[in-house]
Amino acid sequence: MGRKLLFEHITKPGIQGLEGYRANGGYRSVEKALKTMSPEAVVEEVKKSGLRGRGGAGFPTGMKWSFLAKPPGVPRHIVCNADESEPGTFKDRYLMERIPHLLVEGMITSGFALGAESGYIYIRGEYFYVHRILERAIAEAYAAGWLGKNILGSGFDFDLHMHIGAGAYICGEETALLESLEGKRGNPRIKPPFPAVKGLYDRPTVVNNVETIAAVVPIVNDGGEEYAKIGVGKSTGTKLISAGGNIKRPGVYEIELGITCDEFLNSDEYCGGIEGRALKAVVPGGSSVPIIPGELFLKTAAGETRLMTYESLSDGGFATGSMLGSGGFYAYNDAQCIVRSTWNHARFYHHESCGQCSPCREGTGWMEKLLHRIENGHGHMEDIDLLWDIQRRIEGNTICPLGDAAAWPVASAIRHFRDEFEYHVKYPTKVKDPDHFAKEPFKRELKASYA
Ligand code: SF4
Repeated sequence: MGRKLLFEHITKPGIQGLEGYRANGGYRSVEKALKTMSPEAVVEEVKKSGLRGRGGAGFPTGMKWSFLAKPPGVPRHIVCNADESEPGTFKDRYLMERIPHLLVEGMITSGFALGAESGYIYIRGEYFYVHRILERAIAEAYAAGWLGKNILGSGFDFDLHMHIGAGAYICGEETALLESLEGKRGNPRIKPPFPAVKGLYDRPTVVNNVETIAAVVPIVNDGGEEYAKIGVGKSTGTKLISAGGNIKRPGVYEIELGITCDEFLNSDEYCGGIEGRALKAVVPGGSSVPIIPGELFLKTAAGETRLMTYESLSDGGFATGSMLGSGGFYAYNDAQCIVRSTWNHARFYHHESCGQCSPCREGTGWMEKLLHRIENGHGHMEDIDLLWDIQRRIEGNTICPLGDAAAWPVASAIRHFRDEFEYHVKYPTKVKDPDHFAKEPFKRELKASYA
């Protein structure tokens, strides 16, 4: 059994409420930080832990915190990005539902470290029921003196606010989130300036994901070095993974970074293997990361065992690797159609594009149309090359990462499964046969032009 740092007490009775949470050691990190540590010492522990942002980018949290501008007399903010909208990702929702005080505690401790006077939790609109759970936890924390003025007599004041989004995926991008929080349309900002310098209401702001902020609690409780003992290389600590698709045991799992991909997929502690049929492909980190064939998920192109780490999953770059991303894992069995899945993703990104930049606004629409045409038996061979060309012109040419997120699934699907696209064009009537892809032995050779 792997160590659990965030989910250790998640099944304990009463853990949702303050009393149950306190009975299981809750709010120790606030006591420790406010009574025995300086804000700089808390930041130092987070740096030592090697914690990386758990929202998808994997940027070192301690480093992000150290970029926060501290002009005298200017208030600072910490914002929790709880706008979890990436298809296939639902681990933050589970954490907030089951153990809401862990997030409240993490916000207070992180707020203290950053010298923030207030914190905001921006929660996805569709999570309205989780909003109520968190509101209750915040009210309990205020009533018990964990929030508000002069917490624990330390002189530290901290207010925590909730804001519910309106259901736009793009508001998960940190600058779009800040725009939305300020009451404006959630359009991503051009960076620089970065939020650490000019964030919420033009003040220095740190934006962190739910899981990242929750991880600060065990880091402060046990020390950054202890946290860094778990994991491999620069992938330290534990990671929440929401697992779905054609696996036997879908759910949310806390893994120690560094376990093998084979263990995660096939052991009964986690996914329990593929339901009924053979493994075909895997999306390891949410819909925006590249899809890879099953064999490349289990072993790198060099034949080495693939690990559940930031580095190992991206080994080989996008030619043969993918990303840990947001931890939204899903697996496809050999009856699934990659073209149909890619079209679904393209439809999502086209719908969610904010429309500010042309490559994303127009390109996502063109990709969706072409994929729809191929999937429905009206495609041409040239459409596949056109798709490749369009995704290439989107990637890296947009204001925010949504453009890349739309391009990578299309690029990786063509790169690894071009034969399926060609089959749809050549034999349009056969594409509805669910057993077709299992029966047809496709060649999975990586074409040099797509490397
Ligand atoms: Fe908007 Fe897409 Fe440009 Fe991001 S990449 S700013 S979502 S148009």
